[in-house]
Amino acid sequence: MAGKYANVIIDIAHESVDHSFQYRIPARLMDELQTGMEVAVPFGAKNRSRNGYVIEITSHTQYDKEKIKELYSIVQKKMAIEGQLIQLAAWIRDRYGSTMIQALKTVLPVRDRMRQLEEKQYVLAVDEERAHALLGEYRQKKYTAKVRVLEELIRGRVLSSKIVREKLKVSPATVDALIRDGVMYTKTNQLYRNPVEEAQKEPRYHLNAAQQAVADKVHHVFFCRQKKPFLLHGVTGSGKTEVYVELAALAAKEGKSSIVLIPEIALTRQTVLRFYRQFGSRVSVLHSKLSKGERSDQFQRAKNGEIDVMIGPRSALFTPFSNLGYIIVDEEHETSYKSETIPRYHAREVAVRRAEMTGATVLLASATPSVDSYYCAMQGVYELLEMKERISKQGLADVSIVDMRRELLRGNRSVFSRVLYEQMQERLNKKQQIMLFINRRGYHGFLSCRSCGKAVKCPNCDVTLSLHNDGRMLCHYCGYEQPRVMSCPACGSKYIGGFRVGTQQVEEQVLKWFPAAKVLRMDMDTTRSKNSSEQIVTAFRKKEADILIGTQMIVKGHDFPDVTLVGILAADMSLQINDFRSAERTFQLLTQAAGRAGRGKEKGSVIIQTYNPEHYSIRLSAKQDYEGFYKEEMKFRSMMRYPPAGNVMEILVSADTESLAVRAGERIAAGIRQFCGSCLSDGGRTPVLIGPAPAAISKLNNKYRRVIYVRHETELFLQKCRMYLERQTADEDVQIQYDMTL
Ligand code: ADP
Ligand code: ZN
Ligand code: ZN
Repeated sequence: MAGKYANVIIDIAHESVDHSFQYRIPARLMDELQTGMEVAVPFGAKNRSRNGYVIEITSHTQYDKEKIKELYSIVQKKMAIEGQLIQLAAWIRDRYGSTMIQALKTVLPVRDRMRQLEEKQYVLAVDEERAHALLGEYRQKKYTAKVRVLEELIRGRVLSSKIVREKLKVSPATVDALIRDGVMYTKTNQLYRNPVEEAQKEPRYHLNAAQQAVADKVHHVFFCRQKKPFLLHGVTGSGKTEVYVELAALAAKEGKSSIVLIPEIALTRQTVLRFYRQFGSRVSVLHSKLSKGERSDQFQRAKNGEIDVMIGPRSALFTPFSNLGYIIVDEEHETSYKSETIPRYHAREVAVRRAEMTGATVLLASATPSVDSYYCAMQGVYELLEMKERISKQGLADVSIVDMRRELLRGNRSVFSRVLYEQMQERLNKKQQIMLFINRRGYHGFLSCRSCGKAVKCPNCDVTLSLHNDGRMLCHYCGYEQPRVMSCPACGSKYIGGFRVGTQQVEEQVLKWFPAAKVLRMDMDTTRSKNSSEQIVTAFRKKEADILIGTQMIVKGHDFPDVTLVGILAADMSLQINDFRSAERTFQLLTQAAGRAGRGKEKGSVIIQTYNPEHYSIRLSAKQDYEGFYKEEMKFRSMMRYPPAGNVMEILVSADTESLAVRAGERIAAGIRQFCGSCLSDGGRTPVLIGPAPAAISKLNNKYRRVIYVRHETELFLQKCRMYLERQTADEDVQIQYDMTL
C-alpha cells in the first residue's frame, strides 16, 4: 500500500519511539521509500537537516495537510541494522497485533546514557626528542610531579587518568598545566561491561559422528539465501549444545555472529561455559537480571563487532548484529518463548522471520519438539534432523510407572511409592545423586473446605491462594498476602485443609525418611533473588547435596552427570490444567525430567508416580516415544481442529468493571460476525466464534477479563479479522489483547 506520509524517528532508541514526526513523501521517492530506511528530514524552526528512520508509511494524517513538511532525501538505500529491526517490528505488529510503538519497544535496545562507563587517558602530544628536552627542563626546575608524568608518558605514550591520580599522585592542577603546555592531550574511551566472567578455558570435545553429520548438513546451506529452518530432534543427552558451538564457530570463521536462545536464566551459566571454551570473551549474555547499563553495553558491543555469540532468553533475538549467521533456539518447545505482553510474539516465529530477512540460518532444537514445529517438519516447511542416541554409552534411562492408586490401596499414604523409597535408599548408599520433580510449588498448595468445597481465593484475582510453611497465604499473581485462615471464609466450617503436595512438603518428607541426606530445593520461592537459581545449580553440580527437589525449573536442559535417579511426583498434575496443550505439556515435562537421569557414566532410572497411568502422554513419555506421542496427539488436535490442525485467535478483553468488560466483549463479537458475514465466500470455510465468556482467570489485578476465540483453517483469515477489529473505534477504558499463536 503506497502511503503519502512517512513517520520518522530522529533519535533511535527504545525510549524515544514515542516521539515520531510526520513528513510528506515527495513524488520522486514514493516508489522507493520503505519502512526502515534512513532519511534526511527538515527539523526545527530553521529546517536544519537531520537524519532519522522511517518507522511507518501511511496514507493517514492527523495534521493540517498544508503544514506537513516534505522529507529531503533517502540517506541510505541499503538497510542498516536499525532499519532491519524496524522492518521486523512492522512485521511483528502485523502478525501479532499491536501498535507500531509497542512493536518498536520490543525490538529496539534500551539505551542507557546515564550509566555509560568511561575511562580517561592522557596521550603524549609531542615527539620523543621534544619530550626528552622537556623532561630535562622539568628536572632542572624541580617540577617533580610533571617529571613523574612525563617519564611515564615517554615509556608508554598513553597513561590512564586513574594511574596519574592514584599511583603517581599528581594533582589536577598539574595535569591541566601539562595539557595547556601542549605536552599531552586527553582521550576518553567508552568502557563496556562484559557480564561473562573469565573462566578456565577447557578444551572442546571432538564431535561424534551424529553431531558431525548434523553440523555438516546444517552448515551446507549456510550460504544459500533461500533455505528452510531446521528442526533438530535430539534425545536428551545427545549432545545438541556441542553442535551449536560448532555451528557458531563455523559462522564466526565467515565473520558472522550467532544468537543462541535459551529458555531459562538458570541455564545461562552452563551454556555460556560451553561456548566460552571456543569463544572466550567473544561470547556474551543478555538476561533480565543484568542492569540496564550492562544490557545496553552488550548491544553496543554487538554493534561494534566485539561479539560472536549472544546467549539469552527471547529478547536476545533482537541483538543488533548486522552480520547474522545463525539463530539457534534451544529447547524450542518451551513456553517461555512466547511473550506475555503485547505484542504477544513467539520467538520461534520471529527467529524464522528475522533469518528470512537477513539470510541467516535457523536451527530449532529439542528432545521434545513442540507439536507445532514437528507438524511444520512433517509438512516439509522445516527440515527435520535427528540425533537418536545419547553421547554416553549407557543410553537412555530405564523408566517405570507407578500407579499411586494401588499404593493407597496397599495402605501407603506417603508421598513416596515403595519402589521410589527403596531406590532412593540404594542411590544414597552408593553416593549417587537424586532429583525429585514436583509439578507444582508452595506448601500444601491451597486450602479448601471439606464442607462446602470452596478454596480460599485472592480477593483481587479470583485464583486460589497458596499456603506457605510460615503460615502466610499468598497470591502468586498480584502478591496479595494474608495470614492463614482457621475456618472457611465462605461457610464457617472448621474442616479446612490443604491436600496437594508441594516442594516444601516433599523436602520435609525427605528429611524425615532420609535424615542423613543433604537436600537442596529449587522453586519460585528459593530463586527469587539475583543469582540464587545459579547458586543452587552450581552447588548441586559440585555434589554439595544428594537430593535436588524442585518444580519445572529443575527439568529444563540441566546436565548433572552424577544424577542416576529421577523421581517424578504427581506426574498428572499438569494434565489438569485448563488448556488444549495439557497432554503436550505433560509429555514434555515427563520426558525432559526423565532425561536428567543417567547422563554420566552410570545407567539412570526414572520413576513416574501417577494416578493416570493409562494416559498416552504418560505411557509414551515413559517409553520416550516422541513419534508415537505426536501421532496420538495429532488425532486429538485434528478432531478438535486445534492448532496446528487449525488456527485459533484469542481475544482477551479487560476492564475496570464487569459491565464494561461484558459490553466490550459483545461489541467485539458483533464486529467478528460482521467481518465473517462480509467474507463468507472465503473458500466456503466457515469460521467459528466461541464466547465471549469469563477468562480462566476472570479477575486479575482488579480488572475483569473476558475471552473470545475465533477459529478458522487459515491464519490469514484471522489476521484480516483482527485488522478489521483494530480499525473499529476502541473504548479507552477497555484493553484488548490478541493472541495469534495459542
Ligand atoms: P543435550 O543438550 O542434547 O541434552 P548436551 O549437549 O548437554 O546434550 O551433552 C550431554 C553431555 O555429553 C554433556 O555432559 C556434554 O558435555 C557431553 N558431550 C557432548 N558432546 C560430546 C562429545 N562429542 N564427546 C564427549 N562428550 C560430549
Ligand atoms: Zn466452607
Ligand atoms: Zn491476586
